[in-house]
Amino acid sequence: MGVSEIAERTWRIESRIGPRNLFQYLLAGDDVALLVDTGTSETPHEAILPALREVGVARIAVRFVVVTHPDLDHQGGLASLKSELPAALAACGFADRSLVSEPERLVTDRYGAYELEHHVGYSDEEKAWVRSVSGAPATIDLTFAGGEELDLGHRGLRVLHTPGHSAGHLALHDPENGLLFCSDAVHWRMCPAADGSSALPPTYEDVDPYLETIDRIASLAPAELHSGHWPARVGPEIGAFLAESRAFVTTMDVAIEDRLKDGATLRDLCEYVDARLGPFGADPVNLMFAVHGHLRRLLRRGRVSLLDPAARPLRFERTAS
Ligand SMILES: [Zn+2]
Repeated sequence: MGVSEIAERTWRIESRIGPRNLFQYLLAGDDVALLVDTGTSETPHEAILPALREVGVARIAVRFVVVTHPDLDHQGGLASLKSELPAALAACGFADRSLVSEPERLVTDRYGAYELEHHVGYSDEEKAWVRSVSGAPATIDLTFAGGEELDLGHRGLRVLHTPGHSAGHLALHDPENGLLFCSDAVHWRMCPAADGSSALPPTYEDVDPYLETIDRIASLAPAELHSGHWPARVGPEIGAFLAESRAFVTTMDVAIEDRLKDGATLRDLCEYVDARLGPFGADPVNLMFAVHGHLRRLLRRGRVSLLDPAARPLRFERTAS
């Protein structure tokens, strides 16, 4: 728990989710402040509101609370922050609005997206935990498409649409100071625990938008890249971080195509990828998001075929070439 000043009028609010770091960012201009992400339902009282007091930013000055994407560790604190920050507009990406405003949909539509067809998902115990930290439903006041300019008072921010991990994922760019706040837009080759060990595999969902997001961030050439869980990347570290993230996608494609030669289900693929590219320090089921994304892309490209559409779980096979 704590808060660090990472640039002028810019703070990183630090807590943990399990073994991983969890970061929100507070950016202040002359007039108003903006908060990037809200943590879990516990984070506002444990970390965010104490951080505001510590750095001397009044609650009334926080004008924007931007939820970068729909996940329990980024949207869970939104409902309680809306009642604690009276001037704040709650914002998220246009495509993510319903998931962010209705946390139950995380369980059914995001984390539970593969249950019916693939018999892959989280246990009832894990879902109960998700519900306990995802917060209450919250109205979204403002959705961003990407491209909006926000004026905090002698400090301009640009909203970026950075899809891949979610359809509406947002990042915030402060071009004057070379700062880019990308939350979970880029996943490297894993998501680390605070001690640097692997805690989760990459969990991007849609592969082509994810690759475009990586390229987009590279093209903006920020001086510092600040994220939701990964250590800050500075200068040349950013290029390496982005290149390694891109390389992981290629490695996944090769692994998945190899395993599909004999026919495989989504679960088979998750277990195979975990054994070949991991271990990632978490249940292989967490690979379902990325593996499913690769599978869909291979289907679209005609490299994989669906065997029996009525079978459950669904089975896929590499197309003879
Ligand atoms: Zn996260």
